Amino acid sequence: MSARVLVVDDVLPNVKLLAAKLTREYFDVISAYNGPEALELVKRESPDIVLLDVMMPGMDGFEVCERIRSDPATMHIPVVMVTALSDVADRVRGLEAGADDFLTKPVNDIALFARVRSLVRLKMMMDEWRLRETTSGQFGVLAPTGTLQSEPSEKARVLVLEDSALDLDKIVEALHRDSDHAVAADTCARALERALNDDFDLVIISLTLLNEDGLRLCSQLRSHERTRQVPILLAVDEGDLNRVAKGLELGANDYVIKPIDRNELLARVRTQIRRKRYQDRLRANFEQSLSMALTDSLTGVFNRRYVNAHLPRLLERAIDNHKPVSVLMFDIDHFKAVNDTFGHDVGDGVLKEVADRSSRNLRTFDLVARLGGEEFLVILPDTDGEAALAVAERLRGRIGDAPFAISAPPGAIGVTVSIGVAVGGRLGDTAEGLIKRADEALYEAKHRGRNCVVADPRAGLPETRLTPAP
Ligand code: GH3
Ligand code: MG
Ligand code: MG
Repeated sequence: MSARVLVVDDVLPNVKLLAAKLTREYFDVISAYNGPEALELVKRESPDIVLLDVMMPGMDGFEVCERIRSDPATMHIPVVMVTALSDVADRVRGLEAGADDFLTKPVNDIALFARVRSLVRLKMMMDEWRLRETTSGQFGVLAPTGTLQSEPSEKARVLVLEDSALDLDKIVEALHRDSDHAVAADTCARALERALNDDFDLVIISLTLLNEDGLRLCSQLRSHERTRQVPILLAVDEGDLNRVAKGLELGANDYVIKPIDRNELLARVRTQIRRKRYQDRLRANFEQSLSMALTDSLTGVFNRRYVNAHLPRLLERAIDNHKPVSVLMFDIDHFKAVNDTFGHDVGDGVLKEVADRSSRNLRTFDLVARLGGEEFLVILPDTDGEAALAVAERLRGRIGDAPFAISAPPGAIGVTVSIGVAVGGRLGDTAEGLIKRADEALYEAKHRGRNCVVADPRAGLPETRLTPAP
């Protein structure tokens, strides 16, 4: 994994030492010697992670960190504070300024690489979501996302794997300060079972279990779909940094050293929970804006925007593979009369039912879209004119043969559709051309008396076929 690391320290040899270590591990290193210079580089070079000295003349590390965090353009960049102070109060102050971690000078190599790798991995995942969100934003629907720091960190559900009563007490006591709900387990198996049957915002795993290796749970959580994204915080003895490195490699997100300091634990817990909630929101936003942008809210089938994006690609593939793709364009007959007689709500119900009956009577990879009003398009990949005509006839029957139940007045009404069929897949075919041909065939079907199917003359059928109007 290659990543760009910004090293910030006012003492040149410190910068050189860290830069040398990181370069040896193939990181791309840039450096700054004071706060303002660091902020400038963060903006200009958008590094994947910042290693930030705390004690600097002028603007200190806390302030630099706060500024990185408060700028929407840089707030997602991970920051690790590097300091000679091992005072817990300073650690907590750093974490509260928005730092993701704290490293003590002289910097331990395992801790350094483990932190950098794990944070860079996390950032890359977040970048991916941010990018997808931008893409779906192009479709014009996007809720404001807010910032990572503004994400609430209280009232989380936390699973704790710990077999020491003393440590468990400390952890639970710290969690209760944030009104978190703690669920305790004392074996990997029990913890895994809880995790697979519940939704947790965080899992804390002790690596000092008497009879078991907590890393097993770490790896199990990452291998199950349900728990793959849950943040993991390790609790470990000072001398056990090698296993921390292993744990971070397995996908753990952070660690605390025992004996546990409650303030530090809580600060790390909050960071993980905020990130999780932020990430969940990015994902939900993405999925929601995508579905809002590409499906029709009344009927749940795809919309015109999706057809415009998808049909050209499908057609291109069909042409390349010398396979046909057919489309059916259909329109409800005398729909205006339904609205006029029974009201708009009944009309809406009819539209939904037409969409449902269509979707239910097609193959899974066929696609139904509502183009607007009471006009629908069905796309049939790998389908020639003969087969498309048969599908069209079947759809016409499924809609026209069984009456539609309506609520007001209670009863049932007959609904029919007219369908135009066109086939594409020849060199030079375009999506617009294909839709236009289907539209012309539909127009012809209306003209011939409705409740019938007409194929475009260029559909490759022996002759234009039509269903006799009733
Ligand atoms: P034709 O057989 O020629 O297709 O006649 P028609 O009455 O179906 O066609 P026309 O285009 O004259 O009327 C379509 C009607 O569909 C008019 C419009 O109010 C109604 N409509 C369009 N969108 C909606 C909708 O979302 N809900 C409801 N209830 N009605 C809609
Ligand atoms: Mg109509
Ligand atoms: Mg119409």
